[in-house]
Amino acid sequence: MPQRHTKQRSAIEHIFSRIEGPLSPNEVLERAHEEIPNLGIATVYRALNDMVDEETLRRVDLPGQSSRYERADLKHHHHFHCTKCDRVFDLDGCLLKHDLGLPKGFVVKEHDITLTGSCPDCKG
Ligand SMILES: [Zn+2]
Ligand SMILES: [Zn+2]
Repeated sequence: MPQRHTKQRSAIEHIFSRIEGPLSPNEVLERAHEEIPNLGIATVYRALNDMVDEETLRRVDLPGQSSRYERADLKHHHHFHCTKCDRVFDLDGCLLKHDLGLPKGFVVKEHDITLTGSCPDCKG
C-alpha cells in the first residue's frame, strides 16, 4: 500500500474516531486539512467510498441532503439535523416507542428517525 494512501486514510480514520455525528465530505476535508494541507475533495470522496465498501463507514442519507458518513460500528441511534447551521448530530439510543399502535399483522424490522430543528449553538 503506498505511503501517501496510508497517511490520507489514517487521517480520515482519525477524524471518524472522534464521535461528532455524521460528516459530509466537505466537513471531512476541513478537518483533514489540519493534518494534510494538500488533500483534495476527490481523494476524500474516494477514501469515503472505499471505507463504505469495506464497511468501516456507512452512508447517512437525510431527505434532500447529500450523503454524510459515520462509523459503521456505532450502536443504533438517531440523528438531529440543525437546519440553521446544517450540522447533523447523533442522538443517544432509540426514540421509538415500543407500542406504536400499528394495525394487527404489521411487524417493524427497521426504522429511521431524523429530527430537524435548531441546535444549542443556533437556538430559536
Ligand atoms: Zn446549528
Ligand atoms: Zn431507533
